[in-house]
Amino acid sequence: MPRLCLILFGSPGSGKGTQAKLLKESLGIAHISTGDMLRERVASGDEVGRSVASLMQAGELVPDATVNHLVEERIEQPDCANGFILDGYPRTVQQAKLLAELLVLRPVRTIVVHLVVDYNVIIARISGRRQCPACGSLYGVTSSAPKTPGVCDKDGVKLAVRDDDREEVVRERLRAYEQQTAPVLAFFKKSGIPCWDVPAADVPPAVIAKGIETLIRKERGEAA
Ligand code: AMP
Repeated sequence: MPRLCLILFGSPGSGKGTQAKLLKESLGIAHISTGDMLRERVASGDEVGRSVASLMQAGELVPDATVNHLVEERIEQPDCANGFILDGYPRTVQQAKLLAELLVLRPVRTIVVHLVVDYNVIIARISGRRQCPACGSLYGVTSSAPKTPGVCDKDGVKLAVRDDDREEVVRERLRAYEQQTAPVLAFFKKSGIPCWDVPAADVPPAVIAKGIETLIRKERGEAA
């Protein structure tokens, strides 16, 4: 059976990262987050990191060539042999076209899942999010809140607002999403790739993940 390329699509804050982590476990495939990969490069201070830091801080997209290169290398890693989840990629039609070219050379079954959440819910969700500056753990206000408010459960470090989670930056990220990413969904639909809209506000993440897993197993002719 061809390996699975699950593209998790949705605006910033729609829960792509959470779903990717749950589905990675249940489907036994790799999780590729371009946002995480880029943040690692920024933290390491290497050449790629230095070139994208200010764009990321402003909530803008980094150049297609930079992310395309990261993804091209990443999907060759051994943990992608059974399949992989793309979280936050592709975000532009240019990236989607490169991905289509890469995948045409490999036996892959591509499925797009679009997590649909109202923007007002997203702004409230992201601007309440806090991160541990030491270990990177993310906390929400209502779901996955820390045991002691404002303090990381793992290492006791004071939590901070991630630079690109400030409300004005969130609005810029949503604007960039609307302008550049929405046409990507149209591209996938036109290419005949299965695209599923999944309502993702006010539903517990585990329930959403189970629903997606069931759809995928059915699509692949496996028992759910
Ligand atoms: P994320 O954590 O996926 O919201 O990504 C955080 C930031 O990383 C984005 O606001 C962009 O600056 C950058 N980024 C992540 N993925 C991409 C991508 N596929 N194309 C361009 N920029 C990206």
